[in-house]
Amino acid sequence: MAGFLKVLFRNVLEGPSTDPFPLGATFTPDRLRGRARINPELCMGCGICHNSCVAGAINITHLPDGSGYTITIWQNSCCLCASCRHYCPTGAMSITSDWHSAHPDTDKYDRLEQHTIKYEPCAGCGTLMRPIPAALAKRLYAATPHLDPEKIRHLCPDCRRQEDAKRNAGIVTATTTETVAAREIVSAAPTKY
Ligand code: SF4
Ligand code: SF4
Repeated sequence: MAGFLKVLFRNVLEGPSTDPFPLGATFTPDRLRGRARINPELCMGCGICHNSCVAGAINITHLPDGSGYTITIWQNSCCLCASCRHYCPTGAMSITSDWHSAHPDTDKYDRLEQHTIKYEPCAGCGTLMRPIPAALAKRLYAATPHLDPEKIRHLCPDCRRQEDAKRNAGIVTATTTETVAAREIVSAAPTKY
């Protein structure tokens, strides 16, 4: 009995050994797979995440007037597999360590991550298109410092291909003109829908 009381008093004085959650913070492992997020600055609307999502949690819809698209993640359908992050070619998709998914029943249809991304006119032909995200263009053209990623990223794939052809045929050089369309261009990620 004396041993039991000793342990009892010691435990009462020391307090609980377990995490105080939900009344306080708890431990979250660094690599825990929690809520999926999209960085709209990097998303190109390529649809790879949608096609690789085993749970059907990602949807991409084009705006009715053709001026852009909306990408949505239904958090309640997401099974946290991280496939979207793995296959996203631009790094736009990420899996955070946010595991707080408890919610009232009334909120079950509101738990979504949604972004609407608008197209811009191509600097060459005016066709509406998604420009290459600035950070991605910088990376793509890092090995070709004579090309201006900021100008190239505003050309649609057709205009980039045409400029490729002109450059390869020796018609255009990087220094013959100041216009965007006449710049020396190399290949880049697809951006047209
Ligand atoms: S895979 Fe990445 S870039 Fe492509 S639509 Fe999904 S989030 Fe956007
Ligand atoms: S983590 Fe898996 S289930 Fe969730 S949105 Fe990404 S691909 Fe879909």
